[in-house]
Amino acid sequence: MRAKEKRTGMTEEQEKLFHAHTKKKLEKYFWAAVIFVLLFQVYNILYALYYTDFRLDTQASRVYMCLYIAISAACIAAIGFGCMLSVGKKVSYNKMCLNLYTAFGCVLILWSVCMTIYDQRVSDNLSIYMTSAIYVAGLIYMKPQASVPLFIFCQAFLLKGFSWTAQQGMADNYGKTVNTIGITLVAMFISLYRYSNMRQEFLYYLDMELKNKEILAQSEKLSYMARHDALTGLWNRNYLMEWTEQLFRSNKKQRAAAFMIDIDFFKQYNDVYGHTAGDECLQKVALAMKNLRGGGILFRFGGEEFLYMFLDPKEEGGLFAEELRRCVEGLRLKAANPKSYVTVSVGFAEGSMDTEEEYRTLLRKADEALYCAKSSGRNRSIGYERTGFLREKARMERNRESAADIEKEK
Ligand code: GH3
Ligand code: MG
Ligand code: MG
Repeated sequence: MRAKEKRTGMTEEQEKLFHAHTKKKLEKYFWAAVIFVLLFQVYNILYALYYTDFRLDTQASRVYMCLYIAISAACIAAIGFGCMLSVGKKVSYNKMCLNLYTAFGCVLILWSVCMTIYDQRVSDNLSIYMTSAIYVAGLIYMKPQASVPLFIFCQAFLLKGFSWTAQQGMADNYGKTVNTIGITLVAMFISLYRYSNMRQEFLYYLDMELKNKEILAQSEKLSYMARHDALTGLWNRNYLMEWTEQLFRSNKKQRAAAFMIDIDFFKQYNDVYGHTAGDECLQKVALAMKNLRGGGILFRFGGEEFLYMFLDPKEEGGLFAEELRRCVEGLRLKAANPKSYVTVSVGFAEGSMDTEEEYRTLLRKADEALYCAKSSGRNRSIGYERTGFLREKARMERNRESAADIEKEK
């Protein structure tokens, strides 16, 4: 495996991907070329028949006819094999297709060499071989182990062939030799260059794909981090802002319920068990509330405070607030006072939330309700609508305190 990797510059897996990628790239051009060659041979056959009044009475016309038929048969065979391969798509399908392209290219070049040699009988025409060699080298993906022997063989065959066809003593093969050697070298260079270039390009492409994936993963990670709280994995304040802005932009009329949740005596918890234990406690509480039920969206509002938002609430807020409170109590996490468990207080409010102002009012009401839940003993849930009496009491207390302060100052 290692030796193979060193020799080809690719791992086995990359090699497979390369075959698939190259096959996809060549496919269209290859089929267009096969059909073009086939149609051209049909024209040649018809023309030869017409030219000899359908008699094919000269030796040359029969030889040409054989050559035309041979290459037409090769085209038909290539089309047939191609169709067969695409029907039974196996794992090695792409590699087999590339081998088929190469085989067809070899046949085309060998055919043009025969054609060129035979042409020498009548004229000094080298064009078929030259055109085909360049055409195949440019079109087909050809490995060095296929293209180098092929071109060397063709060249040797051509050089030998020129002397067969030349009339005794009249042949001046120097120009032909220079031309064919030149074109063979160019065609060989194109095919080798194309092969190594395609592999190199493919490795760059793989590298870029890998980098793109890394960048995508990084940006996904960053976007996750920007929207989530690192400790609890809940949505954070940033996302709360994004979420509300989206809602206001949508211009939909909607009601919402806001549940403000705060862990009771959490400072003491940290003091008694330490910050690390405090973090674990926060994680457990967050998870319990997150798993409670779908439909709403839970944010870590800050410190040990959470915000649960429901759009278009179907259920009475008090029931859900109690569920929140009970699910934390149900965790039975030992509180700072080891005789009791970690609990939360919940304040909630309902109202329309079409504008930023309404949203702020909703949060303020939920916060006031939370304050009432705290001041009336903690581990309880209260809706804003039912806090009138408590708020009034708090207001009177505040007034009394400020009156006492003024009296003292006097
Ligand atoms: P109350 O029942 O009135 O809510 O009392 P409390 O002690 O929970 O409230 P207070 O606001 O006095 O204290 C909140 C504590 O939460 C203080 C802070 O150290 C702790 N806290 C906030 N964020 C974190 C955190 O991420 N990890 C830990 N371990 N503690 C945190
Ligand atoms: Mg607290
Ligand atoms: Mg707090």
